[in-house]
Amino acid sequence: MSTAQQPKTPTVKGPAEWFSGDVYFNAYYAGQEPSRTRLNLVRFTPGAHTAWHTHAVGQTLHVTEGLGWVQSRGEELIELRPGDTVFTPAGEWHWHGATANTFLCHLALWEAPAPDSGQPETVWGDKLTDAEYPAE
Ligand code: MN
Repeated sequence: MSTAQQPKTPTVKGPAEWFSGDVYFNAYYAGQEPSRTRLNLVRFTPGAHTAWHTHAVGQTLHVTEGLGWVQSRGEELIELRPGDTVFTPAGEWHWHGATANTFLCHLALWEAPAPDSGQPETVWGDKLTDAEYPAE
């Protein structure tokens, strides 16, 4: 195997059970074993955001455009601006998404858990309540 252009991936709409509002992503990299690395570009329309969730091996977000929020359960809201990079540790409940009035685009980098770990890649919980999502 040598360096090779990779096939273009389709833009996929985020499933309604995991996202509030309209979210689109492109899976740019999904490593074959022994790599378990995943890289997506995620585009949130204004007001769109994830449900509460955890990642088995943590997740790094890098903001490419727009404005948004990330928050771990019980902690302060963190504003996301272009160029920001944030890391959420393994197993930490959190959500991320656009502000009410702006788009947010971020790269999401994470690893799938080892196949023999029996852990799911992402555990999805409740959607945010109106009180949890910042109205601005
Ligand atoms: Mn996440």
